[in-house]
Amino acid sequence: MRIVTETCPNCGTIVAGNVLASERVMNCPGLDCEQVLSFEDLSPEDRQYVREHAARERT
Ligand SMILES: [Zn+2]
Repeated sequence: MRIVTETCPNCGTIVAGNVLASERVMNCPGLDCEQVLSFEDLSPEDRQYVREHAARERT
């Protein structure tokens, strides 16, 4: 199983892909970091993977 993550380009905080999938757009959780992280920043392959994986986990 693969874990999709996004790394904040500003502070390096790693955010899980499934969190991004549910939030769509979120402020970086890093301390004093105002970077906006978006699900759309992930590659198409990663978005597809996260969507399928998240759907499976909710059932
Ligand atoms: Zn950040």
